Amino acid sequence: MTRVFDEDLPYRFSTRAIHAGQRPDPTTGAIMPPIVQTSTYVQDALGVNKGYEYARGKNPTREALERNVAALEGGRHGFAFSSGMGCVDSLMKLFKAGDHIVCGENVYGGTYRLFDKILTNFGMSFSFVDTRDPQKIEGAITPKTVAMLLETPTNPLMRLTDLAAAAAIAKTRGVLLIVDNTFATPYFQRPLEYGAHVVFHSTTKYLNGHSDMIGGICVLNDDPLAERIQFIANAAGAVPGPMDSWLALRGTKTLALRMRQHDANGRKIADALAKQLGAERVFYPGLASHPQHDLAKKQMSGFGGMISVETKSKANAATVLGRVKVFSLAESLGGVESLISHPASMTHASVEPARRAALGVTEGLVRLSCGVEDVDDLLEDLEQAFRGI
Ligand SMILES: *Cc1c(COP(=O)(O)O)cnc(C)c1O
Repeated sequence: MTRVFDEDLPYRFSTRAIHAGQRPDPTTGAIMPPIVQTSTYVQDALGVNKGYEYARGKNPTREALERNVAALEGGRHGFAFSSGMGCVDSLMKLFKAGDHIVCGENVYGGTYRLFDKILTNFGMSFSFVDTRDPQKIEGAITPKTVAMLLETPTNPLMRLTDLAAAAAIAKTRGVLLIVDNTFATPYFQRPLEYGAHVVFHSTTKYLNGHSDMIGGICVLNDDPLAERIQFIANAAGAVPGPMDSWLALRGTKTLALRMRQHDANGRKIADALAKQLGAERVFYPGLASHPQHDLAKKQMSGFGGMISVETKSKANAATVLGRVKVFSLAESLGGVESLISHPASMTHASVEPARRAALGVTEGLVRLSCGVEDVDDLLEDLEQAFRGI
């Protein structure tokens, strides 16, 4: 008898992370799910197959990842994509010309670029609002609004949106609430539990956690909506390969361990930087000085490893970026290794300078993705990098 992990039992997060979506290979007992590297599946007879016909539609390695992340987010359905942006783009294919979306003004630069530079050409319209204030969300909804898309905490300013308040608005106004949970991960925050309809990730970041693939995934509960997304995934084809799916799946096994350490390191580093530079220059929801610290404690069970710091000028930022020895200057986040970046010229380069300034993404802002190295090495590295800044 093959041992089968029963996903319906109330196993806890770390147990689900390691087992959900996976079972020993029936032919060999291999404990790791195989990387099913195939484009097609042989059919037994005309119209008779094992549930797999062509790998754009379905792949067992991808399905294992989808079931695994769905179990972590507390949703019934998961759909993996070739990148976080591929996931957002596919979700937007639920909508049509004339539809209006209310979007957080501080979302990932690539999400803003997709909406503002591409989807507006297809007759969709977007309002970018400060979703920290639920009244601004509500005020932006029009009769044409079909969805709200937000990120909490945001990149790079670590601003929060009250998920319960946003979900209540979505419910009364009959629009979908879509939440980008890339920064918090389901280990610290599960938007579906607050009433979001769809939660998504760039699996490239914390879920994979090892900076060795690009991917995206969404999770939801609604069956008819899931059927439409499955249709879009197959019809539009932004699906991940089995190798990348497998790498993400390997990553989620250690998500709980990694997030605990990212969080422990993040808290110590934010505290130290606040002491060195002044708390008003350090953006981290775990700091008591963060204006939404109470909301952070309410809807997140930890704060993670993302911290932004105001250095006050581009020259200062360049000095810090040039001095670090353990942190590496690179885009991206969420890997075991610590990274440092300059949002204004990197992740937010596609946002017009005036808009960037209005959002608070200054030329002096640097963003840290605190990895899981020994925290004392990270603290020493940052202390010398920020000295005199
Ligand atoms: C990286 C990122 C994305 C885009 O994901 P890709 O995998 O790079 O396409 C979307 N949202 C957030 C918050 C991200 O950090």
